[in-house]
Amino acid sequence: MNILSHSAQPVKRHWYGTVHSGRLKSMTQTLPNTLIDRFGRRVDYVRLSVTDRCDFRCVYCMAEDMTFVPKPKVLTLEEMHELGRAFAELGVRKIRLTGGEPLIRANVMSLVRQLGQLPGLDELVLTTNGSQLQRLAGELREAGVKRINISLDSLHSRRFRHLTRHGNLDQVIAGIDEAVATGFKRLKINAVILKGRNEDEVLDLVNFARERSIDVAFIEEMPLGHIMEHDRALTLCTSDELRDVISARYPLTSLGEPDGSAGPARYYSMVDSRSRVGFISPHSNNFCHLCNRVRVTAEGRLLLCLGNEHSVDLRAVLRAPNYTPQLLKQRIVAAMDIKPEKHHFDNRGEPDIVRFMNMTGG
Ligand code: SAM
Ligand code: SF4
Repeated sequence: MNILSHSAQPVKRHWYGTVHSGRLKSMTQTLPNTLIDRFGRRVDYVRLSVTDRCDFRCVYCMAEDMTFVPKPKVLTLEEMHELGRAFAELGVRKIRLTGGEPLIRANVMSLVRQLGQLPGLDELVLTTNGSQLQRLAGELREAGVKRINISLDSLHSRRFRHLTRHGNLDQVIAGIDEAVATGFKRLKINAVILKGRNEDEVLDLVNFARERSIDVAFIEEMPLGHIMEHDRALTLCTSDELRDVISARYPLTSLGEPDGSAGPARYYSMVDSRSRVGFISPHSNNFCHLCNRVRVTAEGRLLLCLGNEHSVDLRAVLRAPNYTPQLLKQRIVAAMDIKPEKHHFDNRGEPDIVRFMNMTGG
């Protein structure tokens, strides 16, 4: 594969990405130490999907019967470490490990330990369904993970089982409590609230977080992948609706507009608790102008936007016979040219994006 094409025309890259060959050529000498896209946004945050596989099948995230990426196409842990190092050298300050369920990948802790030692990286964080946390919380902290987001959509065992199709609520709560006892810098519950399924649990989830002095964030469901379980147009609960419910019980004080560092969530404090309540509102509030992140799928596809298909095949670079870390970094820098300005989510019909969230690395 000739990465440094000398064609004067834009070069069609893998999947949907187009990278101008001029920018690649001009980078043969020096590489920048920060990633800036063509809208002037600095990209210093990478979400790395460690696996597309999962021990759950949450109804909004996956179909019941999923086809996963064949194992040889999934990046090895060594390739993921190589990617992490390249991003850190390009000024990325934060890596979030996600999936699928990152903690079910065999030997994942070896990757976590390696990434935790990368010079220049300020934060290694994790998003998990909590099923393996009781076993791994201590090791994660020792390896340098500072913050963990744990998904939890219901506090009723049978309903939890229906929403996740396979999940065991007691196991997840034991994992959360182990993480609380381990003493991470911050823990946050992530909940997707669906009308008619768990909308009556919003306050219970806030109370669950308050009892443990951890944060809770409510995420609006996004139209990623075809699902049969429910009609997303009917189940969407907007952040405004949820905020009204919570503030009727616990007055909420805004902690300010998202500034990019906290991601797209708007956070609120409650007067009598250390817990913060967040709302991630891809539908009702679009913070694309603050976007500081890119994603890498388990098969090494660099996704420039959650809600668009623009991407670059980094696995091809990593596995090319002429591979060098320099070439990998050149390809990442050049990819900034195709980061889209914004997404346009619409839950009213077909999914906007046919890949599922477990592919995307949520
Ligand atoms: N398995 C881990 C977990 O569940 O936390 C990490 C991966 S999961 C894809 C990351 C987050 O994406 C979870 O908080 C989940 O609730 C959220 N998610 C999945 N599908 C979604 C969708 N269609 N809309 C909004 N959030 C979604
Ligand atoms: Fe698995 Fe997380 Fe998707 Fe649920 S949301 S199916 S736990 S990847």
